[in-house]
Amino acid sequence: MRLVFLGPPGSGKGTQAALLSQRRQVEPLSSGDLLREAADRGDPLGRQVKGFMEAGGLVPDRVVEALVLTRLERFGKRQSFVLDGFPRTESQARSLDRSLARWGQMPIDLAVHFEISEERVIARLAGRRVCAGCRTNYHLQTLPPREPGRCDHCGGAIIPRPDDAPETIRKRWVVYQQESRPLVAFYEGQGKLRRISGDACVEEQYQALLQLLRGERLADASPSG
Ligand code: AMP
Repeated sequence: MRLVFLGPPGSGKGTQAALLSQRRQVEPLSSGDLLREAADRGDPLGRQVKGFMEAGGLVPDRVVEALVLTRLERFGKRQSFVLDGFPRTESQARSLDRSLARWGQMPIDLAVHFEISEERVIARLAGRRVCAGCRTNYHLQTLPPREPGRCDHCGGAIIPRPDDAPETIRKRWVVYQQESRPLVAFYEGQGKLRRISGDACVEEQYQALLQLLRGERLADASPSG
């Protein structure tokens, strides 16, 4: 199973990629997480990356491609994976296709588009929190940690993401519409686009995703969820 998750910030793709990896043997790869790791290193490249991210813009293609494709190549031929947040531009999508072909790997099976309105995105991201340690996502209303303010997995502090400030959310929505939305047509052209609602609750969304994957014969009907 080789999946790409597309959708605006706050549409649930990161949470669903994490769930799929916990419940199925699918390796998640989040470009946002790789970039946050790079930013945390604090070297000149990291500082540049941090600037783009905190302003709500996209990090330049060549920087993201180098990080994501290097990691992806290490997965090898047999590994199932889900790409969360990559590709975000048509140039990245073409690089991804070219790289898989060059490594002699199978192409992407499906691109799943998480569809959601701008109002819902704003409401979702306002309540989003993330663990400062292991980066697990939470939501104050829909996915709270068991103990307020503490990560269920590592006990780290749960904090808002700097790029979830209201004015940055708006910018990221606009950037998504301009730069990333065209990928819907790109994957439609390849016959690989599937859609699910980004507006359902976490478990409903997961069940819709599983149903879709089963319909495509990419997941079996095991009851493990
Ligand atoms: P995310 O965690 O996917 O919401 O990404 C957070 C931020 O990282 C985005 O707002 C961008 O600034 C940057 N980013 C993540 N993935 C990409 C990508 N594929 N291309 C360019 N920038 C990206």
